[in-house]
Amino acid sequence: TMAPIPKTMSGILIEETGGVEVLKWKTDLPVPELGEGEILVRNEFVGVNFIDTYFRTGLYKSPLPLITGKEAAGTIIAVHPSVHSTDPTLQEGVRVAYVADHAYAEITAISADRAAAIPTGLDTQTAAASLLQGLTALTFVREAAGLAQPHATGHRQLGVSEGPWALVHAAAGGTGSMLVQMLAAHGARVIGTAGGEVKCGLAKGNGAQWVVDSTREDVVARVKEITGGKGVDVIFDGVGKATFDADLEMIARRGTLAVFGNASGPVPPVDVLRLGAKNIKLMRPVLFAYIVTKEERAAYTKELFELLLAGKVKVKIHEVYPLQEVGRAHSDLEGRKTAGKLLLKV
Ligand code: NDP
Repeated sequence: TMAPIPKTMSGILIEETGGVEVLKWKTDLPVPELGEGEILVRNEFVGVNFIDTYFRTGLYKSPLPLITGKEAAGTIIAVHPSVHSTDPTLQEGVRVAYVADHAYAEITAISADRAAAIPTGLDTQTAAASLLQGLTALTFVREAAGLAQPHATGHRQLGVSEGPWALVHAAAGGTGSMLVQMLAAHGARVIGTAGGEVKCGLAKGNGAQWVVDSTREDVVARVKEITGGKGVDVIFDGVGKATFDADLEMIARRGTLAVFGNASGPVPPVDVLRLGAKNIKLMRPVLFAYIVTKEERAAYTKELFELLLAGKVKVKIHEVYPLQEVGRAHSDLEGRKTAGKLLLKV
């Protein structure tokens, strides 16, 4: 039998938006009540994502006070009776990972259909470190870039001259590392950009055949050189403001430009006439809109877990910070000091 559910818990509360100092450690937050269709999860590891900084600064709006945080993994400690009939496998003691709100706390109430049972053989830390960014990469490569699923039985290796040219910015970052691995597995010719030698080495290790150091090299010139003047067919840009103009220069005719983040600030409004010169497809994909239904979530999560279990996709943990030190984690992430995934230990 499980320990009784406490009345209060610790967690990180944002009462006003601002710098990292607004991330306040509290020990007397009310434990969320279990609603219809919900389960309570005792979080063990919480994933830090750049989006958490947008909610902290107010770039993305939310009612305050707010417990932010979009992903975690841990153990189910309570199940609403309504869940027993819809998903009998979700029981107390089962390990789950999830993408949902309010993860920066000891305990989170989530809709049961957001819970992904962690398969045997996958540790809780890896599940927390890979879910949101792995699903982002998988859905974006399939649905935003439109690359086909590799063959199930050890996919056909495309020759280096065959696959589409893909460019990933911040290719040693959490999401970038996942994107590079997924793109390489889908047969793309991957160019990664990264800040500094160490990160360039990591991007290469992720499967980028070419890496460009964005802190020293002329990225547009290098990309044109690498692609023989053609430019890249698809660009994944989570950096945003600082790289958007260069993207339009180094994209190939008929290319797809997926701007999916604001690490350097949001891209200002775009004059669509700029897309005409090369018939560029500009899009702004968001993970959450690709995993709206339970079926979508389940299918992509199953595939991601299989890739992790088979060792085809790996996750590099930058650091596991105590939950109380979330401010330091945000500073490191915003300061371009990290490579791979940042986790919080609850
Ligand atoms: P990362 O681990 O990628 O960290 C951000 C990286 O961006 C830095 O390490 C740095 O890498 C690069 N960067 C370049 N310029 C700046 C700058 N001015 N300030 C800060 N960082 C900069 O973070 P995440 O993987 O969590 O997120 C990456 C991006 O993807 C974010 O924009 C995020 O919002 C977005 N995202 C969007 C999703 C969606 O559904 N739309 C889902 C998941 C993530 P380097 O030094 O190598 O340039």
